[in-house]
Order: sequence, then structure tokens, then C-alpha cells
Amino acid sequence: MPAAPSADGHWQEDPGAWRTTPRPRGWKTLRAQVLARDGHQCTWIDDGQRCTNDGTDADHISDPDDHRPENLRTLCGYHHRKRTALQARAARGELPNRARPKPQHPGLIADDAGNTGTAARAAASSAAAAGRTAMRDALQRAREQAKRGADDEPPF
Ligand SMILES: [Zn+2]
Repeated sequence: MPAAPSADGHWQEDPGAWRTTPRPRGWKTLRAQVLARDGHQCTWIDDGQRCTNDGTDADHISDPDDHRPENLRTLCGYHHRKRTALQARAARGELPNRARPKPQHPGLIADDAGNTGTAARAAASSAAAAGRTAMRDALQRAREQAKRGADDEPPF
């Protein structure tokens, strides 16, 4: 839940929020500076790829009460919510989710041609079948070649 400025201009805390201290004075300016520094693009890195969403939120990297620019980074709404949920869990003393990512269901793995599921399996099995057929044909030709003698053209 976003905090909202009260009538006198001070930031009021959402009682359910993990944050225990209010935003500093000048937060709006600080936030704008951080967003400008990061090119208004989310800085979340996943698998070495930076998120391409528009950066709309300034997030505290470590200490939530350290408002120096080096402790702030730009995130999109999605990643800020994700991040805040993790921080809320940490604040409640719960361990962060260290579960390994679930292995992908084989039916969801795409092949090189972008086929997924049944199509990918069918493509893979027909490729394997084609490979077996080609191998069998080659062996057959080689055997016939051997029978006829070594002076004919090579099998491959
Ligand atoms: Zn993002």
C-alpha cells in the first residue's frame, strides 16, 4: 500500500506496511533524481537481463532508512511490488523463499523451431526417426557396397 501525504505534508505510514519509518522530506525530489539517473527504466536484473519496463518507483536496495542515492534504485511497479513483498516477509522474520525454481514441465519446453508441447515432441521424435532411417539406409548401402567390392563409389 502506498503511503499518502497528510494535510501538513508529512508522510503517513500505512500501518500494514513493513516500513517502520516515514519517507524523508524531499522524497519526491529524491525519487525523481533516482529515476532520472537510471534512465526511467527498471533496474531489476533477472538471468542477466535487465527488465525493460518503465521505471516508476524508487526502491531502497538495503537499509530502508538509508535514503542516499547509492542505496536507491529504479524499479517498475511489478518488481517493486515483488521486492516489497519479499521485504515484508523478511520483516516478519520469515525466511526468503529459497526454493529452487521448479523444473519446467517437459511439455512446456520449446524446441529450436519454437514448437512446444505435443508439437515439439512430435518434431523431436520424427527427427529421431528420420535419423534412424538415414543411419539404417547408410548401413545398408555400406553392406551392399562391401558385397559388390571396394572399386565402387564410397557409400557416403
Ligand atoms: Zn521491472
